[in-house]
Amino acid sequence: LIRFDNVTKRFGDNVVLDDLEFSVSAGKHVTLIGPSGSGKTTILRLLMTLLTPDEGTITVDGDYLTHEERGGKLVPAGEKHVREVRKKIGMVFQQFNLFPNMKVLRNITEAPVHVLGLSKDEAEQRARELLELVGLTEHIDKYPLQLSGGQQQRVAIARALAMRPQVLLLDEVTSALDPELVAGVLDVLRDIAHSTDITMLCVTHEMGFARDISDDVLMFNEGKVIESGPPEKMFNDPEHERTREFLSAIL
Ligand code: ATP
Repeated sequence: LIRFDNVTKRFGDNVVLDDLEFSVSAGKHVTLIGPSGSGKTTILRLLMTLLTPDEGTITVDGDYLTHEERGGKLVPAGEKHVREVRKKIGMVFQQFNLFPNMKVLRNITEAPVHVLGLSKDEAEQRARELLELVGLTEHIDKYPLQLSGGQQQRVAIARALAMRPQVLLLDEVTSALDPELVAGVLDVLRDIAHSTDITMLCVTHEMGFARDISDDVLMFNEGKVIESGPPEKMFNDPEHERTREFLSAIL
């Protein structure tokens, strides 16, 4: 469903992703681990088209994300093409990024109504179902700042799912939370991972969570995937010295 082919991303002289190759099949849950600065967040930002690659191509569900084919040639994609492909992707950020001036319900219905063209009724019905899924039905009429960080993050998850994306990107979604609020958010995500067929790509430092939900774990170092495999193998018997070092430092 997602493919990175020879993707290089630089910031000045800093080569953040170096000729990167990897793919994620539909319905799989893949976790990206690795030291700070190894390029994990950059991958998610490329998928959200918040950044563009310097070299290489990214495809989502068979469509080029930043290029399109015209007259048999690959050219930089126009805005309309990017918008269409991007609809397949939802993202939850570390800082929940909710609209502070909108109540919970409207935070969730805003994009489905304005981007997907759903009627207000359809969007509200879907929002109610999602609020039930994330356990926040009774908070539907509150503003984000009347909620705890964990609750806000669960609204952000519902908001991302309301667009019915094929892929959900999760960027360290619990790292801004007080420790006692982390478990509630991870439980909701476990539930989604186990009860839907959505493809997930997560950057997380929560290794217990990664172990529970991942089909595959990719270890990044200096802009490359240096090792990958199922969580049992990656956490119990990693092959690469750098992976062992990284895991022993954080586990
Ligand atoms: P962390 O776990 O700390 O979030 P990461 O693996 O997600 O790390 P990235 O956020 O992808 O790493 O950053 C990779 C490198 O790119 C870092 O060296 C960072 O300083 C640099 N970088 C990221 N965004 C920018 C930017 N907009 N401008 C310049 N440099 C950037």
